Amino acid sequence: MADFHIEKTSTPTPADQREALLKDPKFGRVFTDHMVVIRYVEGQGWHDAKVVPRGPLSIDPASTVLHYGQEIFEGLKAYRGKNGDITLFRPGANAARFAASARRLAMAELPEDLFMGAIENLLKVDRDWVPQGSDQSLYLRPFMISNEVFLGVKRANEYLFVLLASPVGAYFSSGCVSVWVSDEYTRAAIGGTGEAKCGGNYASSLVPQQEAAEKGCDQVLFLDARERRYVDEMGGMNVMFVHKDGSVVTPPLSGAILRGITRDSLLKLGRKMGLTMREEPIAIDDVFAGAASGEIVEAFACGTAAVVSPIGSFHRASGDEARFGDGKTAGPVALRLREALSNVQRGEAEDSFHWV
Ligand code: PMP
Repeated sequence: MADFHIEKTSTPTPADQREALLKDPKFGRVFTDHMVVIRYVEGQGWHDAKVVPRGPLSIDPASTVLHYGQEIFEGLKAYRGKNGDITLFRPGANAARFAASARRLAMAELPEDLFMGAIENLLKVDRDWVPQGSDQSLYLRPFMISNEVFLGVKRANEYLFVLLASPVGAYFSSGCVSVWVSDEYTRAAIGGTGEAKCGGNYASSLVPQQEAAEKGCDQVLFLDARERRYVDEMGGMNVMFVHKDGSVVTPPLSGAILRGITRDSLLKLGRKMGLTMREEPIAIDDVFAGAASGEIVEAFACGTAAVVSPIGSFHRASGDEARFGDGKTAGPVALRLREALSNVQRGEAEDSFHWV
């Protein structure tokens, strides 16, 4: 593994302050004391890997990322099991997706050993920041920006990789989330960047997300860009539906949605638990009709941050509502899958897929 130079902060957060912060960290607001930085220059490759005190970056205002948005990121979590051990869940899958995102955005690919080395070295210095609570974890945010100083539109020849860490609790405060179906705005077309985890996808999701909030909903659901007919995914998570026969259905990987690692894990885990897990196109009208007729009995969102979050209801501009049960109570299949997944993630269940 590459050598990381380690420069520890001279002003670490005192232990009592850290413990107070870890009690109930707001998602993405609290950070550990350090970060990893690695540089890339065409011809020199990746170099200068280091763990440094967390602080502002200094970049030139003509850095290409500030103009043309060559930016990608990942999200994964470090968990603390009951015995105090720290575990990571499928970090190799995040490294592979990060490399795939880099290829789509014409950026330099970070080799998997550097991706893993960054995480291991940051966890070495900031391990006390991995919280203990059952809904808690240390969220890891690797990202990469282009920082060649140039105003021409072309592939940059310099990049900066950074890894931040942020202790988090449950993503949603309420038990069941409500979802706004965006009939107007779409997220990604086939051939676009929907499969890449790039900042631009999230920038364009903010207006529909704001619309969702105005309608009193927690999250937005996007439909396919061509017909606005089929379910794609939510602003920051994939989506699954449970039929009355117990089968679980999720949209197929079309090229326009993110290849969620939680989605993939639930498909595999569910099948091992004896559930029928299907990947097939889901028409939004069938979701509303299915909720009304009792054909669809549960829906849930899944992702690293959201884990498995039951969906109470969908709402859309027509005024229609698709509600599951009383709209406030998590369904049994979502709860079973959530427990099975978090037990594996925390090293508290058999890891038959070698994910931990
Ligand atoms: N879709 C989108 C748009 C996301 O941002 C995320 C979160 N990374 C997901 C799905 C879920 O992916 P994962 O399970 O790998 O976190």
